[in-house]
Amino acid sequence: MAKLTTLKPRLKVIDTCRIKPVYGEHRRISGSARVGLKRRIWVRDGGHCCMCSRAADLHESELDHRIALQFGGDNSERNLWTLCTECHAGKSAREVAAGKPDEEALKHDVPGDNEGQSFMAI
Ligand SMILES: [Zn+2]
Repeated sequence: MAKLTTLKPRLKVIDTCRIKPVYGEHRRISGSARVGLKRRIWVRDGGHCCMCSRAADLHESELDHRIALQFGGDNSERNLWTLCTECHAGKSAREVAAGKPDEEALKHDVPGDNEGQSFMAI
C-alpha cells in the first residue's frame, strides 16, 4: 500500500496583517477626541441647534457634519455644527432618501463662518 503523503497547499496564505485600513481625511472622529470637539463646537454655537435655533443641551444635541463625509464634506470645524436630536434625525433621513447633501441644512450657515456679519440682536 502506498504511503499517503500530505499535498502541498496550492494557495498561499495571504498575510492580512499587511493590509491596513484606510486612515486619513475621511476617518470618522471617535472617542474622547469627539467628545471634546463636540463640546467645543457646542460652545461656539452658543448651545443652540444650528438649524432650528432651539437651545439644545450638550448631551441632547448631536455633533453633525453639515455636509456629510460621504458627500465630500470634511472634518474641519467649518463643516461641523450642533444640531438638536430632531433636526439631526430629519437631516440624516433626508440625506439617505435623497442621496445628496440636505438642502434644508445648506440654507443654514455654520456659526463663525461669516465673521464679517454681526449677530442679530434678539
Ligand atoms: Zn433643531
